[in-house]
Amino acid sequence: MTDLDRATPFQTLAVGSLPRDQCVSDLVTDRRLGRVSDSESNRLLDRAVPGAIRMQERAGLDCVSDGEWRRINYLDVIVEAVYGLIPTREFSTSTLPAVVSRLKQRSPLVAHSAEFLVKHAEQKTIVSVPSPHTIGKDFWSADHSPEVYDTPEEYVQDVIPIIRAEIRRLVDLGVDAIQIDEPWLASLVNPAFRTAEGILDLDREMESNVAAINAVLKDMDAVPISVHVCGYSPTTPGSDFRNWSPLFDALELMNVERFTLALAGPNLDGFRVLEDFPQDKILGLGVLDTAVSRIERPNEIVDMAQSAMKYVPPERITLNSDCGFAPSTRNRGSLDQVYGRLSAMSDAARVLQESHG
Ligand SMILES: [Zn+2]
Repeated sequence: MTDLDRATPFQTLAVGSLPRDQCVSDLVTDRRLGRVSDSESNRLLDRAVPGAIRMQERAGLDCVSDGEWRRINYLDVIVEAVYGLIPTREFSTSTLPAVVSRLKQRSPLVAHSAEFLVKHAEQKTIVSVPSPHTIGKDFWSADHSPEVYDTPEEYVQDVIPIIRAEIRRLVDLGVDAIQIDEPWLASLVNPAFRTAEGILDLDREMESNVAAINAVLKDMDAVPISVHVCGYSPTTPGSDFRNWSPLFDALELMNVERFTLALAGPNLDGFRVLEDFPQDKILGLGVLDTAVSRIERPNEIVDMAQSAMKYVPPERITLNSDCGFAPSTRNRGSLDQVYGRLSAMSDAARVLQESHG
């Protein structure tokens, strides 16, 4: 375990994406459409991305991302890196592809952006990769995929070595922390989501998710790994805290140090889910609700941390936003506004560290 996770309570970490200027957004989509070359888009993004890094550092974050400005969305990195996918359905600002032939890798997923981040950041760095289970669920299509992969689970087995190799690359590049994006997990505890997806066996879903994460991380403990669990929050109005224990049972079985959870919603009763949070894991406490646009006051964030501390001790709590601020090229707020929110989170961290450090 590195000092990033254990030495100081209430360290502040980026979750991933930041809002981007329109010209950066246009550049990324133009590259995808072939209107600008990879080398030209890299040249221009290499000038823009240091601004995203500096902003997080000025806001006081202990561990920063590159704002994910080079990606169309969090899943997009796999689309660019492998052969075997074709665009089918609309997803966010890109198309959600289906797997139609055996996967074959053509390039690393995020190595270039990670190398650039490590070189330009003064603070510690965190880089995200999508989870194999989420890729399997989102890219396996009953209409297009069964000829090559009978089931999503079979497809996931070919995704695992790709994600595993990428995490090895990130470790070699000197990235300080790695995040695996896994929105499916939290959504699974929502009965309405399971009904909509036709999921009848929750235990089986959880087991296959845990197995995929553990296969990716087998014998890999060089850097702290976070799993980002988002998509459905226990502090959402109407969320029932009694549904959440299967999730925590699953997290306990994962060979991961830290789980980031979305907890910044208005239903404070939702903090009761933390009664079941695994006792040897770090809680990445989501304190900025990325679905809304307003700048929190530091004392609101302190109050949330104190609600969490009823169940998880300070030395196992870090602070983060609930999710990325722009999980696609569609911004949810301005960069200036996010700067204000991250600064409020850092101010709250200092208050908490003075009281509990
Ligand atoms: Zn998220």
